Amino acid sequence: MKNTQRQVIIAGNWKMHKTTRQATALVEEIQSAADGEKNLPEIVLIPPFTALVAVEKCLRKSAIKLGAQNMDWHDEGAFTGEISPLMLTDLNVQYVLVGHSERRQYFGETNTTTPLRIKAALTHGIKPILCVGEMIDEREAGLTDAVVSRQVGAALGELNSEQFFHVSIAYEPVWAIGTGNHCAAAEANRVCGMIRKTVAALLARLEDSTGNGEPFNANRLPILYGGSVKGSNIAEYVKQEHIDGALVGGASLISEEFLAIIQAAQERVKRAAKATPSNTPTAHR
Ligand code: PEP
Repeated sequence: MKNTQRQVIIAGNWKMHKTTRQATALVEEIQSAADGEKNLPEIVLIPPFTALVAVEKCLRKSAIKLGAQNMDWHDEGAFTGEISPLMLTDLNVQYVLVGHSERRQYFGETNTTTPLRIKAALTHGIKPILCVGEMIDEREAGLTDAVVSRQVGAALGELNSEQFFHVSIAYEPVWAIGTGNHCAAAEANRVCGMIRKTVAALLARLEDSTGNGEPFNANRLPILYGGSVKGSNIAEYVKQEHIDGALVGGASLISEEFLAIIQAAQERVKRAAKATPSNTPTAHR
């Protein structure tokens, strides 16, 4: 993949839903429709911890990836109720959400703890999806860009260029999550473009490179939109310049909805393939 070509990602965050049996049924429905399809985006299923084992078993022969909703940054220790990166890699988890707004609102996640999780994930070969987004009062006070760029800088400011190859960001305005009140696609695109500029500025400060490889280019960073995405509105998002897919909550629990979202993302994958010469060398992702 070229240093400016971006991966298209559709991730389904199941939050605190689905027993093991229900999770298995949902994965089987998604898998039987998606496997064998052409131009698929990277599909990531993010069940609750209790369903990871069952979902991993279903996905063993599939291109669909497995993600976790959160992760502690210690390898092990006296941290009752927490799950470590070692426990996730043991279950072949490839992605982890970091800084989801529900973790920030209800479980004490802050701009101090997100970088710890990001670094621990990368150390263990797990790809973090950093979630950022403003609250409604912050938007109304004109603070959206300041809040979001601060969240991005805090979480990613100490990474080196090589580490950025394994990171994605989801812009999720908090007021749009689970409310049905999705952010207008043009505005979501504007904020995602601002996030890309923020990452470019972080990279410009780095003096290191990836050793023998090319340094990471911010144009390569997958940036997803999240917040009341459904089969009926996804097409608008994946048409936008800076939106490379979606982090989907409620609609990822219904196979028809999630499959409709995947189908719309296939259009973006097709467009990207047309725009890129087929002999472009592949890099890290
Ligand atoms: C989410 O949980 O990240 C999310 C975007 O939820 P929903 O799609 O339900 O708004």
